[in-house]
Amino acid sequence: MSSLIFLFCILVALAVFGRTIYLRIRVLMAVQPAPRFDQIGRRIRAVLVYAFGQKKFVVGEQPAGWMHFFIFWGFLVLSLQIITMFGRGFSPHFFIPGFRPEQLGGVFLLCRDLMELIVGVAVLAGLYRWWFSHPRRLFGFAPAEERHLKQSHGEAALILIFILTIMATGLLYDAGRLVYQAGEPASEIERAWEPVSAWISRGLASWGSDWARVLSTTAWWIHNLVVLIFLNLLPRSKHFHIITSIPNVFFRKLEPVGALQKMDLESAENFGTSRINQFNWKQVLDMYSCTECGRCSSHCPATMSGKALAPRQLLLDLRDYLYQKQQQVISGRGSDGNEEVGDVIVGEKLIHDDVLWACTTCRACEEACPVLIEYVDKIVDMRRHLVQDEARFPAELVKTFNGMETHSNPWGIGAHRRVEWAQGLEVPLIADHPDAEYLYFVGCAGSFDDRNKKTTAAFVRILKRAGVDFAILGTEEPCNGETARRLGNEYLFQNMARHAIEVLGQHHVKKIIVNCPHCFNTFKNEYPQMGGKFEVISAAELISKLLAEGKLSLQASGDPQKLTYHDACYYGRYNEIYDLPRSILKSLPGIELSEMERHKETGMCCGAGGGWMWMEEPQDKRVSHLRVDQAMETRSEGIAVSCPFCMIMLSDGLKSKDAEEKMHMVDLVELVDRSMKP
Ligand code: SF4
Ligand code: SF4
Repeated sequence: MSSLIFLFCILVALAVFGRTIYLRIRVLMAVQPAPRFDQIGRRIRAVLVYAFGQKKFVVGEQPAGWMHFFIFWGFLVLSLQIITMFGRGFSPHFFIPGFRPEQLGGVFLLCRDLMELIVGVAVLAGLYRWWFSHPRRLFGFAPAEERHLKQSHGEAALILIFILTIMATGLLYDAGRLVYQAGEPASEIERAWEPVSAWISRGLASWGSDWARVLSTTAWWIHNLVVLIFLNLLPRSKHFHIITSIPNVFFRKLEPVGALQKMDLESAENFGTSRINQFNWKQVLDMYSCTECGRCSSHCPATMSGKALAPRQLLLDLRDYLYQKQQQVISGRGSDGNEEVGDVIVGEKLIHDDVLWACTTCRACEEACPVLIEYVDKIVDMRRHLVQDEARFPAELVKTFNGMETHSNPWGIGAHRRVEWAQGLEVPLIADHPDAEYLYFVGCAGSFDDRNKKTTAAFVRILKRAGVDFAILGTEEPCNGETARRLGNEYLFQNMARHAIEVLGQHHVKKIIVNCPHCFNTFKNEYPQMGGKFEVISAAELISKLLAEGKLSLQASGDPQKLTYHDACYYGRYNEIYDLPRSILKSLPGIELSEMERHKETGMCCGAGGGWMWMEEPQDKRVSHLRVDQAMETRSEGIAVSCPFCMIMLSDGLKSKDAEEKMHMVDLVELVDRSMKP
């Protein structure tokens, strides 16, 4: 009879679960396509590293990271236990084939027993965080996560209590059996492999065999019913990630992470994303997979500087709205996103404009996310709608877009002034030196901004001293359009990219040197989408090569000084260039490097990316001020950078804090220039 009741419970639970999952899958099939079925080997490797290896947890914040590691592995081991417990509903001595104690099962019993204890302790630590320590990362960051802060977090605690119950009842079930089956040969073998259950059974022995049987049976029922309820809570809660996170890691973005998706402007009917069904299935899978851990928001410079954006809140708003409109999304299947499902989500209704404009596209959120959720593409897709469909963007950008369109630079300075920095330096023009091995693409900041012009001149001195065969485009040099793309103006970007590729093609350029991470990322990762394929070399890479080849040699350039290095997002997280600039700094005589707490993968943006170079940040919410504070904590005398935008933003930060006497700004190439032996 009890087997029949249990079978009924399983069938009901599976039917409800199956229907929920079926609808979630239908949503994935109803939204837009995304090509994520290539490079299977790399995808499997990502699953091994990030899902089974739990890389982001293990190298991330502790002890929460290890806690999650044990919960994850505990669940894998315990899934075998759950199958065993379910089987016992129909056969009291059921074991998964091959897992009897005298077979492989001894090791399994030991792992399971220990895991039940470890996961139980990890859950207690989790409950302490939810009930007592209330970390902001879990509860929400004001003001951008006001809604998350106010929502009940009871569900998280409930799920933890469920997990704790599953662990505790698993141990009690086995401990009870060891009491009432004492003396049976099979039971004694089990006892030898179950130290925790055996220890509990010693406490239960005084209750007598009958009570131990009642306790064990009750624990078995509670265990299995909680598992069935838990199963049905998963797809309705943040714990859906238990099912979706492995596929989400498998389908991660593999093309260069720094490349935004190219829009097909010829055939597109929507110029960006403004309806919930216009996201693609991978973006929806991201929404399903969020664990609500808050690592993204805790690393986001916009959230930290008090702006309206917090990536977690953005994703949860989209996810909740998607669930609300699930049926409509399914009905609109195959609509190419033209079907008007729900409201326009960009604007007053859901994702406010200032949330989207606050993003610096720094990718700190993506780097921090344990389940590899992607943000920048979603945010830029929604910006594309604002700019291209509604022509709605911050007023300052009118000048930026005009400048790019009419003078091919975001400052809007006349193109004839592009080479003023080169006066007296005798820099070869590619028109006069068409066979030059390298084209030095100076970039708009290096050409027009007074502070960065000094860096440009320093780099040219290095190239000349080392005998590099190079030339520049001079007044022919166009802007590559990076800013327009990050700001959502894909139309302008594609026009500018086509023009730049044409100019470079006319001069048969093959190798491009840059001293700007934004130019680097655009040429290297995005121009191939437009048919422009070049070998792109950063200043740090070239200088390293010149030093290694003995074409440059260095000496002390003055007093020894302690510097901290600020990673540019578009070299660091976008292109994993972390060590090269550091190794150059360390090779400079007299320079001592002191790292900020946030450096390399966790480095913080200067506040210029994503077009913020040309937008007005409120004085009290400036990202650069936060970053300068972090730099000052190192008690260094200067901040070294490899990016003209970082140079401008952090110089501004130092100035606003009246700290220019205490710290100075310097570009890496300036340090090399000063240290070159005559
Ligand atoms: S890319 Fe940077 S600014 Fe944008 S949401 Fe992520 S962390 Fe925040
Ligand atoms: S997006 Fe990633 S990092 Fe952010 S809350 Fe969700 S799981 Fe955590």
